[in-house]
Amino acid sequence: MSIRILPPEVASQIAAGEVVERPASVVKELIENALDAGATQISIKVEGAGRRLVEVADNGCGIPAEELPLAVERHATSKLVSAADLWRIQTLGFRGEALASIASVSLLTLTSRTAKATLGARLRVEGGKIHPPEPVGSPPGTVVRVENLFYNVPARLKFLKREATERRWIDHLVVRYALAYPQVRFHLIQDKYPSLQTSGLGERREVLGALYGAEAARQMLTVFWEEDNLRISGFISPLFLTRSHRRDMFFYVNGRPVQDTALSAALLKGYHTFLMVGRFPLAALFIELPPEAVDVNVHPTKAEVRFRQPDRLFAAVQSAVRRALLANQPVALSTSLPASDAPSGKDVPPPLPWPGWPPMPTPQTPEPSPSISVPNESQPLTAPTQSALPGERLPLLRPVGQVAATYLVAEGPDGLYLIDQHAAHERILFERFLEQHQKGVVSQNLLQPLVVHVSAPAARLLNEYLPLLNEWGFQVEPFGSTYFVVRSIPAILGNSDPGQALQALIEDSEEDEAPLQALQEQRLIARICKRVAIKGGTRLSPEEQRALLADLEACQMPRTCPHGRPTMIHLSVDLLERQFGRRGAR
Ligand code: ADP
Ligand code: MG
Repeated sequence: MSIRILPPEVASQIAAGEVVERPASVVKELIENALDAGATQISIKVEGAGRRLVEVADNGCGIPAEELPLAVERHATSKLVSAADLWRIQTLGFRGEALASIASVSLLTLTSRTAKATLGARLRVEGGKIHPPEPVGSPPGTVVRVENLFYNVPARLKFLKREATERRWIDHLVVRYALAYPQVRFHLIQDKYPSLQTSGLGERREVLGALYGAEAARQMLTVFWEEDNLRISGFISPLFLTRSHRRDMFFYVNGRPVQDTALSAALLKGYHTFLMVGRFPLAALFIELPPEAVDVNVHPTKAEVRFRQPDRLFAAVQSAVRRALLANQPVALSTSLPASDAPSGKDVPPPLPWPGWPPMPTPQTPEPSPSISVPNESQPLTAPTQSALPGERLPLLRPVGQVAATYLVAEGPDGLYLIDQHAAHERILFERFLEQHQKGVVSQNLLQPLVVHVSAPAARLLNEYLPLLNEWGFQVEPFGSTYFVVRSIPAILGNSDPGQALQALIEDSEEDEAPLQALQEQRLIARICKRVAIKGGTRLSPEEQRALLADLEACQMPRTCPHGRPTMIHLSVDLLERQFGRRGAR
C-alpha cells in the first residue's frame, strides 16, 4: 500500500479518540470550558449515561456569534497565543481540541450569548459538518448539547462499560470539579435523578459530603503546608477511615484534577506504618505552585502532568500528610499499645489506638523474626496447623487469656491455640448469616430508625443492593436521593452499628461490580461481617472470650475467616516439645 494523507474525517476521529474516550470525558471538557469562561453556575444534564445526551449550561462569558464556527474548529482557542504561553498556563483548556473532537463523534449544538449581545446564536455540528449559526433568544452564557455520542464510531461504543459504570464515572468526575471549585454552584442531573447539587458558597467540606457521605466528610482531617512558592492544602482521612482501594485519593494541581502515581505514593508514605496492608486512605489534596513549575501539556486529556522539581514536591506532600496525622492522632506517636477498656459501643468513639493497629516496627533495628522455626528442616510456621484440614472442626478449647487485646490464647487437648479474635468473629458471623439464610432470617427492629447519608454514586449502588439486603434481614428504605433509613437489621448483628454494615457494602465495592449475582452475595455478606466483627485492640472479658471460643467451636470451617485468612495458629504439643528440645532433634 502506498502512503497517503488520511481524509480529514478519519484524522479527526483518530484525534477525537485521544480526547473523548467515554461520556465522562465529554462532561470533563465541557465543565473545563465553563470554568475557563468564568462561570459561577454550571448545570449538567445527562441521559443514558451520557450516550444519549450530555448538556452543560453555564453563566460564563459566552462566545460572540461570529466566533461560534471557529470554536468548533480544531486548534482554535482563545486561551493561548504563542508557544511561550504554554509555560504559564492559567486556564484548564488551551489545546483548542475539545469541541472539535466532541463534534466529530456526536451531534453537537452550541448556543451562546455574551453579556454585551442582545441576542444569542446557535450552531449545529453533525459528525463534524458545521451548519451556519442562527440567532436565538438565550440568557448570557453558553449551553453545549452533545447528543448520540459515538453514533458514528461503533467500535468505541463496544468499549463502553455498562451504563451504571459510565454513570458512576460521570458522578465521580463532576464531584471532583465541584470539590476544586467550591465557589461555583454545580448541579448534576442524570436521567432526571439529581446526583449532585453544591451551594457555591466556597465550603469544601460540604462538597466532601457529596463525595464520601456526611459522616466521613466530618471526620476528614485538614492538611495545610506552605513553603516558598508551594502550597498543599485539603483533606485526608484519619487512621480509622480507610478503603480497600485507591480510588478515593484525589490530587489537584493548580485546580486541575491529576492522576499521578508518585503523588499517591507520597501520600501513602505520609501514612507509613499507620495503615494496615491493603488499606488506603481517602484524600483530596490541592497543590498550588507557579504555572512554570509544572508541565500540563503531556497528554491530550491533561490528566497527567510533569513537575519541575518532583522530589521536593513529593517530600512536601509526605511531610504535610504526616504532620496532619500526628496533629490529630497523638497516640500515633506511642510505640506501645496502651490498654484500652473502652467497649466498642455505638456512641463511643473508636478506641485508641485504632483497632487493627499494625504492629509498630522498632525504628532502624530490624526485628529478628520470632524463632519458632522447626529445627532441621526449614518448615514454615504454619506447617503444624496444616495437619488439620481447613474444614476440620475444633476440639473443645479452654480459654487462657488475651494478648495485645487482639489474640486469644486457648488450650486444647492437642496443644496451644492462638486465635485472632477479629478473624474468628468474622467467621462466626458469616456462618450464622448463611445458616439463617437457609432457615429464615431473624430481623431485629431498631429502637430508633437510623438515617444514613451516602454520596450519590453510593446511593445508586445501595439502591441496587436493597432487594438483596432485604433478603438477608436488613430493612432499608431510600429516603430522598442520598439518604437511607435503616429500620431493622439481622438479629445476628446484635448491637453492632448498622451504618457500618451499609458502608461496608458501598465503600469497598468494585468499580464494575454487577450486584445481585448469586456468587457475589456471599462476598457481600463476608464484607459486612468483616466490618462489624470485633476489632483487634478490643479487650474482651473472660466471659466474652469464652463465648467467642464456644461460637468458633460450633463453626463448620473454624480455621479460616470468610476471606480465607487463618483465624488461628495451632502449636501442637508435639511442636512445643521439639521446640524445647524435649524430643526429636537434639
Ligand atoms: P480550549 O478549551 O482548549 O480552548 P475548546 O475546543 O474546548 O478548546 O474550546 C474552544 C474555544 O471555544 C475556547 O477557547 C473558548 O474560546 C470557546 N468556548 C468553549 N466553550 C466555552 C464556554 N462554555 N464559554 C465560553 N467560551 C467557550
Ligand atoms: Mg476546552
